[in-house]
Amino acid sequence: MRALRRLTVRASLPEALMPLSQLVTNLRWSWHPETRDLFEALDPELWASCGGDPVKVLGEVSAERLAALADDPGFLEQLTTVAADLREYLDAPHWYQSLGADAPATIAYFSAEFGITEVLPQYSGGLGILAGDHLKAASDLGVPLIGVGLLYRSGYFSQGLSADGWQLEHYPALDPHGLPLKLVRDADRNAVVIAVPLPEGRTLYAHVYRAQVGRVSLLLLDSDIEENSPAERGVTDRLYGGGEDHRLRQEMLLGIGGVRALRAYCSLTGTPPPEVFHANEGHAGFQGIERIRELTESHGLSFPEALQAVRGGTVFTTHTPVPAGIDRFPKALIERYFAGFGVPVDQLLPLGAEEDPSKFNMAHMGLRLGQRANGVSELHGHVSRDMFGPLWPGFDPDDVPIGSITNGVHAPTWTARELVELGTQTTSQGDPLEVDGEVHFDGVDRVPAAELWRTRRLLRGRLVEEVRRRVRATALSRGAAEAELDWTETAFDPDVLTIGFARRVPSYKRLTLMLRDPARLKALLLDEERPVQLVIAGKSHPADDGGKQLIQQMVKFADDPEIRHRIAFLPNYDIGMARYLYWGCDVWLNNPLRPLEACGTSGMKSALNGGLNLSIRDGWWDEWFDGQNGWAIPTADGVEDPERRDDVEAQAIYDLLHRQVVPRFYEVDDEGVPSRWVEMVRDTLRETGPKVLATRMVRDYVQRLYVPAAGAARSMAAGGYEPARAEAAWRAKLLEHWPGVRVAHVEATGVGETPEIGGGIDLRAEVELPGLAPSDVLVEAAYGRVDDADGLHQVTTLELRHDGAEGSRHWFTGTVPLTRTGAFGYTVRVLPHSAHLVVPAELGVVVNA
Ligand SMILES: *Cc1c(COP(=O)(O)O)cnc(C)c1O
Repeated sequence: MRALRRLTVRASLPEALMPLSQLVTNLRWSWHPETRDLFEALDPELWASCGGDPVKVLGEVSAERLAALADDPGFLEQLTTVAADLREYLDAPHWYQSLGADAPATIAYFSAEFGITEVLPQYSGGLGILAGDHLKAASDLGVPLIGVGLLYRSGYFSQGLSADGWQLEHYPALDPHGLPLKLVRDADRNAVVIAVPLPEGRTLYAHVYRAQVGRVSLLLLDSDIEENSPAERGVTDRLYGGGEDHRLRQEMLLGIGGVRALRAYCSLTGTPPPEVFHANEGHAGFQGIERIRELTESHGLSFPEALQAVRGGTVFTTHTPVPAGIDRFPKALIERYFAGFGVPVDQLLPLGAEEDPSKFNMAHMGLRLGQRANGVSELHGHVSRDMFGPLWPGFDPDDVPIGSITNGVHAPTWTARELVELGTQTTSQGDPLEVDGEVHFDGVDRVPAAELWRTRRLLRGRLVEEVRRRVRATALSRGAAEAELDWTETAFDPDVLTIGFARRVPSYKRLTLMLRDPARLKALLLDEERPVQLVIAGKSHPADDGGKQLIQQMVKFADDPEIRHRIAFLPNYDIGMARYLYWGCDVWLNNPLRPLEACGTSGMKSALNGGLNLSIRDGWWDEWFDGQNGWAIPTADGVEDPERRDDVEAQAIYDLLHRQVVPRFYEVDDEGVPSRWVEMVRDTLRETGPKVLATRMVRDYVQRLYVPAAGAARSMAAGGYEPARAEAAWRAKLLEHWPGVRVAHVEATGVGETPEIGGGIDLRAEVELPGLAPSDVLVEAAYGRVDDADGLHQVTTLELRHDGAEGSRHWFTGTVPLTRTGAFGYTVRVLPHSAHLVVPAELGVVVNA
């Protein structure tokens, strides 16, 4: 017989142990080793068998054991210390508290996935883990963020392997009561119920669970509740499962339901309403539509007026450098789902318009709803400005209003405890008196090379143990018999150069590039004197058979008895496995097809542990490779034939390994320490460490995006949203008259026969502005180096001053300085101007001379 439902019956906690319940429900334990020590002390065996899940441990620990601990002075003292530490962490002012009143009172952060701990499998890969790290770093800095997401009842799948190496997917059924979550209830203790309208008069209902991530609350919506009919219950079944219809319902619940959940939560808890809404990727775009609908109802604004009010407070982050990766819906589907929603569908549709008139593009909507937008590394910023350039016709890619903030990773989550205890990191972060202080890693300079090396070996050894354990379990699950598995006990070696490669398996990440020349790889693995060993992991999207074939190819290669003690594919890559890899790998390999890796964060986590990156110059590595922190794999960017490109880049990897990486690792001094290698480890920790931190990233978001967005939102809302109405009216007028705007004539004086550096050109531009005032526009000279095709480069702009008018004809003047020698060019252009624009390109209209 199978149980219909399962639940966990807990022993009740003795009075003296009550603080445990808060410690378990606050996910700070996922990055606080001392709290985990305490849970382990509850019952070390249970802790191990429950895979380090404290909720499970607390559910299964016996009443007798709890009674004994309640009388154990040692345990009680440990409990008191840890509980006091959490209280201090939650209450003390942090960096954000020093920012003053310009900083938003609350920020809402929407994401389709959140990766906080392996215990909450609500993530598929980098996007979700980034969101988790964003919340954790926000908590560390005291940023008043509230996360909003969905509670997938089966999360993302856990990965197994068939005997012949094919990916198997298991969807564990999660019981919210067995997770570190709390149901959000109203004042009468009833579950808060969120409703989202669907077509044909149906309604999608959801409960809201709250996860506590340090100081930050994360609200997760769950549709698997009695109020729903069977079809709607399944909306939050899986992460990225199902067809278009299913995905649209999920995104409506995330965006619309998410805003409604936030409103309910803030009013129940007295939290100030969010001023800034950050959409992490396009999935959460409907949050903006819901906020527009709210304003049309509460303040009688029209759709365009409400759009102006909403845009100011919205931040959009794009993560997808490939058009094919962008989330799009058939326009007809959007029409059907939003017909009865409460906003005019003919106004909604243009927000998602794209090249294909039958599609609704969620990234385009994100960019049109967010006055501030960014990519996730400098290179990805460039790629995004090119890719989304058509939304701003007439502008150079450099003018496209998409900036970049390079991702970071949460050091306390990802750094091995032993390294921190060595004193490699010194931190002033969190101390409001030192708000400008950064986290420093120069403590590493005081650690003797031999000691640093010993710690690296310890971490490598721990990884080797974990690899052996997993290799054995995997072989058993694939049908091997115990008696055949003796080899696993000596597989891998704590003194061999260890290379890691772990990530999702979309084709651009090229999981199997290293197999391009199998004989060459084999030779590297089996070298008698200086071998390497390789740990590989990654999940393929369940619908991607191509990815599963790559995994199978890898698994079959690693199954070879000749090499299986040096190479392993470990199934079920997740946060719990990833940590061992980041701690223990000497080299982190990454070979994406440039520039398709928007940022990549796994290499950052490796670097935080002194791992050296061996990577294509893509994403973050393009920015922060410094010649000391690892190796850059030369790319064959210009090579058209993908097969040849793979060949060239794979050969480059083998060559680098053979000529540089391997010799350096094995070149040891008299004490057996590879001193040049250790210097690279030191450099990585000291120089790269502070850059890749999630706290650096969140500070950037706060200072460059959240604070200005709050300012814009406030100025739009002033006096009952009067400025939003005025701005919408101004935009309508401007766009109506824009087709008549024209640069009629540009006159240049002041340059003689031979222009000389230090001189200037006096420009006088005659501009037609029918129906517009000179204050509605910005007329500027743009000048710089000019190429053979008259293209302008390294452009500088100079605002021209209004200097007289005759009817709709206006003159603007200014002097362009000649500051460089060589080919020089200039032009004049007219752009919209209002106090509420962040950049003049925002409306996507420009008139060039
Ligand atoms: C960091 C991380 C990722 C993302 O890694 P990328 O390098 O961005 O591909 C995916 N999964 C896990 C478990 C991670 O820890």
